[in-house]
Amino acid sequence: MRRKLVVGNWKMNLTRDGAATLLGALQEGWVDTEAEVAVCPAYLNIGLVRRLLDGSPIAFGGQDCFWMDKGAFTGQVSALQLADAGASFCLVGHSETRGRFGVVEVPESVLAYFAETDETINLKIKALQKHGVRPILCVGETLEEREADRTDAVIQAQIRGALAGVTEFATGVVAYEPVWAIGTGKVCDAAEASRVCGVVRAALRELFGNQADAIRVLYGGSVKGANAKELFESPDIDGGLVGGASLQADEFARIVAAA
Ligand code: PEP
Repeated sequence: MRRKLVVGNWKMNLTRDGAATLLGALQEGWVDTEAEVAVCPAYLNIGLVRRLLDGSPIAFGGQDCFWMDKGAFTGQVSALQLADAGASFCLVGHSETRGRFGVVEVPESVLAYFAETDETINLKIKALQKHGVRPILCVGETLEEREADRTDAVIQAQIRGALAGVTEFATGVVAYEPVWAIGTGKVCDAAEASRVCGVVRAALRELFGNQADAIRVLYGGSVKGANAKELFESPDIDGGLVGGASLQADEFARIVAAA
């Protein structure tokens, strides 16, 4: 039986005060849970979050990383530095770092800045594993790809590309996040989310055999307190990757309770 996992992706939100207030509220209302819980703050707040979570069951992680350990890579943060900062997890391949935004309109020039590829995602996963940080690989189709009936093929290709040459992934996590459901309020219905998470597991089984049974497959995309229970009831969904709702302590607590 896989332990459920709920991860809050704070994205580029919250100042130090905001992060402290949110964590304070979350810890104050904390109810013991069998689920594993983590938050992914902006890099600048990781030191603060580490201090505030000292002794707490809540883990923390990064939202992205660079694959080289060190060097002349201005503005980047390495997997080594994340490990040194105590991060347990790190997101990779989020649709926003892949430059595949949902309804948010972004100029071409900005997309080029994000433009993460399967190849760079693969390098990041290997770097994270080298330093003992568990990768959370995000995969998902755009609305255009869904409408062209390419959802399963896109997911399978993203998994194969990101995990090429990776031999051990039992402690890794994959989050199925349909791009059109991220930050849009449009949640993928539970039956379809569950079906695609099954596609993810089948692709993992092709790569890792029985080891795939240990890998957590999360759903992400407009998860809220109101829809979490139905999603998490599926045996194919091992928890959630939560954006907007992770910024509200009461909503996030409801999602954790549902897990
Ligand atoms: C995300 O960014 O990973 C996400 C799932 O966002 P939201 O919950 O806001 O849709």
